[in-house]
Amino acid sequence: MATLIDGKKVSKAIKDEVREEVLSLRENGEEITLAVVIVGNDNASHIYVRNKRRACEYTGIRSLEYDLPEDTSEEELLSLIDRLNADKQVNGILVQMPLTKSIDSKKVIERIDPSKDVDGFHPINKGLLFESSECFLPCTPAGIIELLKRYDINISGKRCVVLGRSDIVGKPMSLLLLKENGTVTTCHSKTVDLENITKEADIIVSAIGKAKFVTADMVKPHAVIIDVGMNRDEDGNLCGDCDFDALFDKCDFITPVPGGVGPMTIAILMKNVLFAFKKQKG
Ligand code: NAP
Repeated sequence: MATLIDGKKVSKAIKDEVREEVLSLRENGEEITLAVVIVGNDNASHIYVRNKRRACEYTGIRSLEYDLPEDTSEEELLSLIDRLNADKQVNGILVQMPLTKSIDSKKVIERIDPSKDVDGFHPINKGLLFESSECFLPCTPAGIIELLKRYDINISGKRCVVLGRSDIVGKPMSLLLLKENGTVTTCHSKTVDLENITKEADIIVSAIGKAKFVTADMVKPHAVIIDVGMNRDEDGNLCGDCDFDALFDKCDFITPVPGGVGPMTIAILMKNVLFAFKKQKG
């Protein structure tokens, strides 16, 4: 039977650590600020932003919210980012994705000052990650490394299989596992013989967005299963990429959905905002 990796518990521990530091900085008259920009009426995006606001309230980070209408132009958004870049009170900038169709998200991300890029999406931070230098780590993959470490799961020398190669999860995940000396295979929709690859894995990270895609016969006994997916099953319930019930008896560790990887993303965001503040203060 597997050990359940409790992302809620670890996320709270990280937020408590951030909170302690933020409160002591505040006692010395310092204020740490995250600016969150959201464009349009996407429901899910508004829920993510609300959760980020709550995490800021908990950790003592000041949050400034810019809730822009659906018809905001690219120019208007870019000029807001210029203002936030120039504002010394603002330590971190987060633009909630996806943006509306008329706005080029790549252009927007590239406009954010890399030293305030707390999502770690700017090409400069991606490049620093590529060369394993200090940078803002993308929140979800960094949260997964944190989960593995806090459950004393050794990565070094292990066969790690990442399912998915997106810029925000799969690719940075593979780089971070490699940095921890894992032997990493990255799979995607064109991968042939996927099942034989996953069967070799000590650690599987699945980020493909397909409900219950990873089944028990694709996994070797005693594997570690990290499920990033957020999907709906046939009954409309939230579920991951992995067939949790079937895998639970076979693997050594598994993350639930919800309550596994999800809460870690926001906790790492809080950590990144604190890191931004410290870096800016030298
Ligand atoms: P994405 O951009 O859609 O990427 C999906 C990846 O999965 C692609 O690389 C795709 O391959 C690959 N893929 C699709 N079908 C596959 C198959 N049959 N076999 C192997 N690989 C396959 O998704 P994402 O943004 O990375 O997100 C992935 C999932 O994680 C989603 O469910 C999302 O909601 C969730 N998520 C959760 C969090 C969190 O905080 N918990 C954060 C971010 C994302 P190609 O590149 O070949 O198309």
